[in-house]
Amino acid sequence: MSCKKCGSENMVAQAVTKGYFKQGHGCLWLIFFGWLYVIALFFKWMYKYLIIIMYYVCVAWVCAIVCAIKKKKYENPQFIKNLFRRRGKMYNDESTIFVCQNCGNRQNSK
Ligand SMILES: [Zn+2]
Repeated sequence: MSCKKCGSENMVAQAVTKGYFKQGHGCLWLIFFGWLYVIALFFKWMYKYLIIIMYYVCVAWVCAIVCAIKKKKYENPQFIKNLFRRRGKMYNDESTIFVCQNCGNRQNSK
């Protein structure tokens, strides 16, 4: 492992935890903007379920038939899975970075 910036071998490995949080809203926010939030949420859901409904009406049954003919297991694509994913959930992603002791350059292990 050598530094890409200065070429020094004096690198120290450091574990970094990247937190990915699908943001939910607090109670106070909900009190002030509650009714707006409900309307916004309603339209958001409409939009969300419209995509899901459109998907099932237009695409899913065709794929299901094709998969049935090919005797393959049918699975929903990733963007449909993402639409079903819930708010307020924490996802942790741990990675290792290397810090150069010579110039302070930070780089990934790759
Ligand atoms: Zn360096």
